[in-house]
Amino acid sequence: MTLSFDTPYLPYRTVEQEWDVIVAGGGTAGAVAGIAAARTGARVLVVEAQGSLGGTGTNAWVTPLMRNVSGGVNLNRGLTEELKARLRGRGDGAVDPGGNDNWFNPEGLKFVLDDLLVEAGGEVLFHTHVVDPLLEGGAIRALAVHNKGGLQALRATCFIDATGDADVAQGAGVPMSAGDEEGLHQAMSLRFTLAGVDTAKLRDFLAASGQGQASAEFLHFWMVWGRQSTLEPLFREAVARGVLLERDGDYFQGFSVPGRPGEVSFNCPRIRPELNDGADPWQLSAAQLDGRQAITRLTAFCRTYLPGCEAAFIGVVAPMVGIRETRRVQGEYTLSVEDILDCTKFEDSICRNHYPVDIHSVKGGARLLHERDGAAPYFALDAWHEIPYRCLVPQGVDNLLVPGRAASSTFEAQSSIRVQQNCHSMGEAAGIAAAWAARNHGGQVRLVDVPALQAELRRRGALV
Ligand SMILES: Cc1cc2nc3c(=O)[nH]c(=O)nc-3n(C[C@H](O)[C@H](O)[C@H](O)COP(=O)(O)OP(=O)(O)OC[C@H]3O[C@@H](n4cnc5c(N)ncnc54)[C@H](O)[C@@H]3O)c2cc1C
Repeated sequence: MTLSFDTPYLPYRTVEQEWDVIVAGGGTAGAVAGIAAARTGARVLVVEAQGSLGGTGTNAWVTPLMRNVSGGVNLNRGLTEELKARLRGRGDGAVDPGGNDNWFNPEGLKFVLDDLLVEAGGEVLFHTHVVDPLLEGGAIRALAVHNKGGLQALRATCFIDATGDADVAQGAGVPMSAGDEEGLHQAMSLRFTLAGVDTAKLRDFLAASGQGQASAEFLHFWMVWGRQSTLEPLFREAVARGVLLERDGDYFQGFSVPGRPGEVSFNCPRIRPELNDGADPWQLSAAQLDGRQAITRLTAFCRTYLPGCEAAFIGVVAPMVGIRETRRVQGEYTLSVEDILDCTKFEDSICRNHYPVDIHSVKGGARLLHERDGAAPYFALDAWHEIPYRCLVPQGVDNLLVPGRAASSTFEAQSSIRVQQNCHSMGEAAGIAAAWAARNHGGQVRLVDVPALQAELRRRGALV
């Protein structure tokens, strides 16, 4: 059901102030969109459910930024480069002699995003849930939000839905896709850290067991059933002794974090497969419980089986469950896996990608496109495809853009473009486009001059 702006059947209070752009969700794409829009001089408000910006990259504790490299060049520039430079300046970002500067401390990123948004003149409203868009004809006039002030309507000329779950677009009646051909979503994970780790001892153990490490400051280790991890025998023993469940070995990965010596961050546990819809509040809540139970098991495993972790304790449990995929809008263009394999270039490109299709399936394991053999253009080391502006433009609404993991794409294509640096790039493009749409076209995002947008992105350092 859609709400009319003129039918106040909900007791919301219309806030006096009006903005050029409101960004719903200040996460990976949304925070960057807010910064980029505010830098054009637009009046910008970011509305965020949590108490800090960054979304999955901070509150779900997802680090590092996945590499998105072609021909030895990082394909994402602009604000994503600025975030890295600021993180390094705080001691919260990696300076890696191997050139991999994508590792960062999620807590540090919260501060960096605060600073950049405030410096750009943007505003933020934390602890506020976007409830629904208020529509007039084919346009959104306001967002109904809920916070400690009750139900309120926040008005703007143009809107960005960066909620990851396309909450605004869903409320506006935009057609949606979700999940794979069976409607199953990628696995959710609840990330955590162990602190109090003797990382030198852990490095020596990992090296001796066949997982060589560059240094104690830069650890990376893993185990997935059947993938020839040297840690698999330990997992087998732990399952036999009841320390772990079989499914705890579906995906296990740990690594160190810049600025946090003695701590190891885990890209797991995966949530049990029946709970895979992060847009279902009951599943999301059950996932939180399931994840914490699994963290108890994994902590016991590490303390018992991994030398260096004997005195380890839980440092962080991510405040947000990590959600890889839920709803995806149907936009003016839907990116497909064929576009990725064929390295399709678009006249309205706003981002380049060479990150593989990376499906963390609830049916088991992780599937990577580069594990397929093929002669497709994609497999060249200097290949890339593009993401068109039209993927951010949802069908049926005049003044809304949707960057990030809910952008218009098929299930397989989404699993490739969803990585953080692409979300930054999509967010940067959406922010500038929304600000221009508000200033020049009454919010209508289809009237934005895309070649001028591309030129502006290039001026800000992007590769488009
Ligand atoms: C477990 C896991 C591991 C991953 N590993 C990597 C990795 O190693 N490297 C990498 O680059 N990428 C990785 N990814 C992918 C990447 O992190 C995400 O796809 C990306 O961060 C999503 O960005 P987004 O802006 O679309 O959504 P998010 O960053 O999730 O932002 C959405 C924001 O909207 C807010 N919000 C939601 N609904 C509302 C509402 N109704 N009202 C107000 N606010 C709302 C949320 O609080 C959040 O801040 C991983 C993802 C997961 C889940």
